Amino acid sequence: MVTWRALGCEGVIGNALVDMYSKNGDMESALNVAHLDSMVWNVISCSSLIDGYIEKEQTNEALMIFVEARRHEIEPNEFTFSSLIKGCSGQAMLEQGAQLHAQIIKTSFAFDSFVLTALVDMYGKCGLLSSSVQMFEKIKNPDVFAWNSIIGVLAQHGQGKEALQMFKQMVLKEIKPDNITFFNLLRACSHSGLVDEGLEYFDSMLKIYGIEPRQEHYSHVIDLLGRAGKLKEAEEFIHKMPFEPSAFAWCSLLGACKTHRATELGEIAAKKLMELEPENSGSHVLMSNIYASVGQWEDVKATRKLMRDAGVKKIPGFSWVDIDKKTHVFGVEDWSHPEKEEIDKKLEDLLIRIREEGYVPLLELVTSNVEDSVKERMLHYHSERIAIAFALTKSPASKPIIVKKNLRVCVDCHSAIKFISKVEGREIIVRDNARFHHFANGFCSCGDYW
Ligand SMILES: [Zn+2]
Ligand SMILES: [Zn+2]
Repeated sequence: MVTWRALGCEGVIGNALVDMYSKNGDMESALNVAHLDSMVWNVISCSSLIDGYIEKEQTNEALMIFVEARRHEIEPNEFTFSSLIKGCSGQAMLEQGAQLHAQIIKTSFAFDSFVLTALVDMYGKCGLLSSSVQMFEKIKNPDVFAWNSIIGVLAQHGQGKEALQMFKQMVLKEIKPDNITFFNLLRACSHSGLVDEGLEYFDSMLKIYGIEPRQEHYSHVIDLLGRAGKLKEAEEFIHKMPFEPSAFAWCSLLGACKTHRATELGEIAAKKLMELEPENSGSHVLMSNIYASVGQWEDVKATRKLMRDAGVKKIPGFSWVDIDKKTHVFGVEDWSHPEKEEIDKKLEDLLIRIREEGYVPLLELVTSNVEDSVKERMLHYHSERIAIAFALTKSPASKPIIVKKNLRVCVDCHSAIKFISKVEGREIIVRDNARFHHFANGFCSCGDYW
């Protein structure tokens, strides 16, 4: 590794080495080369290092390189900034993302469309829809990537109509949509229950825009129909598809079967899902929930046994919230947090107040055959509620609370959080595994459709 130094062209060879190691994901060697000679600390090799870390989802390490580069008085360029912001979006690191934004404002990249597009995405993925829209409005001549970003953000935040409006503007400005545009549009329609519009867009893909729908587009149509309760249409659509539906499509359908208590179609979907993803506990859990919802306790038991025999473990739900630059993670009925007592007190207080406002727990959601009072406790200690209670005791009243969750928010928590936002007069943003919910004044932005 040392021989390149003897060649007298450290900069070029060093850069190439850093780039090669970074691209191969060997960050240790890449960093070794960079630390051997200060000649290698330049914008090219730093960008390689940052990209390498972002690719490995090690955003904090990428940010450290950025800090070290600044110490070497290296001026970042638009690619450095957009890579770092991309990293922050991927891990929903709002604080770090916003800090980068503050630095960008002081540079000549403040109006760079590449950087602004990354910011649209970052603010959107971190839950701040209005900031995301503001960033988009700053882009002078948005290209297809910028339009795709804003349509994707609106879709994720359940702003279906606004997403379709954006698309209309995009077409008016003669920007040609691509397959990602349609993916986001279908997602927008699906999350907002715009069935007719979604089907129209799906049809227009090939007919008007000459874009061959891919498996993910078909899968989203199944999701769209399923969520709207059009199970028969979803089933017919599956039979007409030129592809085998993806696990996502079967999972959506299974979810829809759960909501609409359709056991037979649910069994078909669950079987397909188990074939495609045998290690995924979701299909077993959903199926046992469907059986529980129609009171087929024997089938619930059989499904659970099947799960145990196959060694499938239920993915535990957990939620996390950032307070004072620290991430606090909570599981279901998780009492390991050092401030347990304070949180418990807050939870109790919230329960009393939301009940006065009219909250009624949805006990039928608990699939265990236990007493109602136990069921109510179980719902009450879902991880997102613990995280919200904790954040309420910690963060200043002027700031919205942003909680993230690895699984879908259940219907009961959704209802409880609406009441909590009302009694506390706070804006609460919850990002689950599919989308964002903005709770304020007793309402959610999703309009209870998700
Ligand atoms: Zn819940
Ligand atoms: Zn919602």
